[in-house]
Amino acid sequence: MSTVDLDALRDHLRPVGAALRAHALAIDADPGALHTLLDSGVLPYRELGGFPPGYLDDPLRVRGVPVHVRTCVERVVVAETLAWGDASVVVGAPGPSMSGVVVDDLADDEQRDRFYERVAQPRTWTFFGLTEPDRGSDAAALETAVADGGPDPADGGAVGPVLRGHKKYVGNVARASLGVVFARHRPGPLGVGVHLVDTDRPGFDAAPLSTTGMRAVQLGEVRLRNVPLLPHDTLGRHLSPSRRGLLGAVRTFNRLRPVVASLAVGVTRAALDYVRAERSSFTADERWRLATFEDRLHAARALVLQAARAADADPADGTLPAAAKATALDLAEEVTHAVPPLLGPGARWEHPYLDKLVRDVPGLEMMEGTRTVQRLTLAQGWLQGRARHAELV
Ligand SMILES: Cc1cc2nc3c(=O)[nH]c(=O)nc-3n(C[C@H](O)[C@H](O)[C@H](O)COP(=O)(O)OP(=O)(O)OC[C@H]3O[C@@H](n4cnc5c(N)ncnc54)[C@H](O)[C@@H]3O)c2cc1C
Repeated sequence: MSTVDLDALRDHLRPVGAALRAHALAIDADPGALHTLLDSGVLPYRELGGFPPGYLDDPLRVRGVPVHVRTCVERVVVAETLAWGDASVVVGAPGPSMSGVVVDDLADDEQRDRFYERVAQPRTWTFFGLTEPDRGSDAAALETAVADGGPDPADGGAVGPVLRGHKKYVGNVARASLGVVFARHRPGPLGVGVHLVDTDRPGFDAAPLSTTGMRAVQLGEVRLRNVPLLPHDTLGRHLSPSRRGLLGAVRTFNRLRPVVASLAVGVTRAALDYVRAERSSFTADERWRLATFEDRLHAARALVLQAARAADADPADGTLPAAAKATALDLAEEVTHAVPPLLGPGARWEHPYLDKLVRDVPGLEMMEGTRTVQRLTLAQGWLQGRARHAELV
């Protein structure tokens, strides 16, 4: 449970959201413009990155109280407020990001130091390498493997355990300094491990992809050609087999889904505010539709907060996080498509920020699993009697 005043945190970060909005179109046109935003100093990305106490000299302070942005509740408030300006920058900023959550769950003390001391350096990006071109994010079917010893006939070279495989649609990977790679070392659900890997190792070959939305994330792909793996790279060696690897990482996903849902809430808020700023009078029917969207926005925000509290209390239960993601994405998609026609037939052309919002939502849909997958998780949780509050959906 968070001790932070969440309204104060929101108020504190509103100007940062506004600053992100000011840079959003430039970054959408050229993701390299993210550096201009970072140069401006308006985005306190290190303070918002979720570092454990002790790794930063200067944590965020809200009304004098240090806020480390470590709980899912704090993360969703930060994500929603900043996503009002640009959801893609929230995911594309330097920092621990998704790998930080998995490191928190699975790393031992030495690995935690290695990760956070490195990422505490300014402008250090990380990556989270799960999705594969032929297997998607179905972690049980991963092809990326830890190969034992011997040089690969195709590449020659490395001896000892190595990573071989191909990851695709991985955020920030082409500019990351380190991150985590999911790879199989034997068949079965306990046969997938998570490994902490520095990107300057031989055989780590990453490149950005071209995308239409969430452009600051700079999605990329990486070919792992006999990347040497050291014993201390493997996360969770001190944990039981059911807590490490894939099964342990499920806890990470359950904590990240409310955050993606909150990005969708921020985008919805941005679209509704935008149309009200651009048009002052509406027909009765339009007023009714906008009022209904506002009501649903409040309900979605409440559900996301509830899901974040649930994820903080029991990260093993993904029921409410799945409900929150499905609900928030339904609304974001509906609102971002409903708003442009209110500004006339050429609105997406004349209001490029609205066009960006429409293009960002499919990226949020894919992140951490589509709504179809969330609904399956929700149904399972419901059938097993978990999270009765899912009645809210
Ligand atoms: C902006 C962005 C950032 C990302 N960042 C990362 C990252 O940092 N690291 C990383 O590893 N990956 C990342 N990804 C990839 C993302 O996590 C996956 O694309 C996502 O989890 C979906 O998985 P998938 O591609 O396997 O699709 P699937 O889950 O296979 O879905 C494909 C289609 O099949 C449907 N479907 C799936 N299961 C069922 C079912 N049982 N019944 C009916 N229909 C079904 C889905 O609804 C969807 O339409 C990112 C993606 C985006 C867009």
